[in-house]
Amino acid sequence: MSKKTIIGVDVGGTFVKFGLFLEDGSLLEKWQAATDQTEPDAVLRRIKQESERAMQKSGMTGREVLGIGIGVPGSVDGHGMVISAPNLGWSMVNIEKLAKEYFCVPVSVANDANAAALGEQFFGSGEGCDSMVFVTLGTGVGGGVIVNGRLLAGAFGGAGEIGHMLMNEQETRACTCGKCGCLEQYASARGIAEMAKEKLASTNQKTILRSLDVITAKEVFDAIREKDSVAVELGEMFGKMLGRALSYMASAADPQMFVIGGGMSAAGDVLLEYVEKYYRQYAFAPSKRTPFLLARLGNDAGIFGAARMVQLEHV
Ligand SMILES: [Zn+2]
Repeated sequence: MSKKTIIGVDVGGTFVKFGLFLEDGSLLEKWQAATDQTEPDAVLRRIKQESERAMQKSGMTGREVLGIGIGVPGSVDGHGMVISAPNLGWSMVNIEKLAKEYFCVPVSVANDANAAALGEQFFGSGEGCDSMVFVTLGTGVGGGVIVNGRLLAGAFGGAGEIGHMLMNEQETRACTCGKCGCLEQYASARGIAEMAKEKLASTNQKTILRSLDVITAKEVFDAIREKDSVAVELGEMFGKMLGRALSYMASAADPQMFVIGGGMSAAGDVLLEYVEKYYRQYAFAPSKRTPFLLARLGNDAGIFGAARMVQLEHV
């Protein structure tokens, strides 16, 4: 058994998820704690307390910690600087530097979707694959690009942020980022729910969706399975936008595979069908056949990826 440990952390607006790993990446324990305080110092203090507690509980006290990986819901540059993390209220915080006051081991920081991409690439659906584009479809749309086994960190913190690619310049509704017509407005759970609301207001067509009090992306995909024509139109719109965005990603990265994760990916094959249909229409010939896979690690992708960041730097 390897002796050293790694701590993988996934900081979210509601919960902070933790994983205690051995250096080979095997998970010893995972747990989560409510994000009650979001100031950078409070979060780091919490990570320290939680890690020490878990080390003790697992009988690992005294074992060397190789490093701590932290995924943050915001844009992060290649030097651990969080440019902006609106859910935490962070702006221009160098979390890697600040962490030096709390930990005497190396700390690696990345955007949470970027970290999740690394998790899926090494421990999940992308196992054995060298280059991959990971897309997370949840409340928003995030992503991560892996080339030659390494996460594309980018220069300014924007790498893999596919949710804010401009897809529709005719759009008048604003995205959370302030622009109008971002991918996220058509391909996220929130986006699909919004589109459904608009669609129902603009048509008298019969649809299962009209009888629901609240329409979420899940109901839309359930209705697609029932061949509901309005839901199918929404699925087409979703597929067109995401398929087109990923065809652009293929032109830049030409990955071995696309891996689709996040809460919405629970819709499964029906969701992939729409994306693949349009992707194959739009992609340039050499990348037309790129396979699409559903992510395997679910909510754990972030902690696995955070552990992988440490492995990449220190193992
Ligand atoms: Zn946007």
